[in-house]
Amino acid sequence: MTLYETTLTEFKRKGDEEKVRWLEGLNKRITLSQKKRIQENDTKIMQELFTPKWVSWELMYSWATKGLQTKNCILCNKKDSLGMDFKGKFLCANCFIEIKHK
Ligand SMILES: [Zn+2]
Repeated sequence: MTLYETTLTEFKRKGDEEKVRWLEGLNKRITLSQKKRIQENDTKIMQELFTPKWVSWELMYSWATKGLQTKNCILCNKKDSLGMDFKGKFLCANCFIEIKHK
């Protein structure tokens, strides 16, 4: 389970409906471009999001990256979610940029 799921489950168990609603409503509250910045590990965005005090960066990051598939890059062998499929193989964003500039 991700941190997001664990936290959500915990609040549900405690019956903390306000926090449950807040977490479940994130998709509506946060724009796609903001979500992308979270995925890119841009912690500065926290100041723009007006998140409640109990919301940590790790929690937001966990939410934004949930459902993102991580795959093994065929070149550097690292797991990444940002990148592209190339002839059925996965290339991470870093390797893709490197290849393009060769
Ligand atoms: Zn790579």
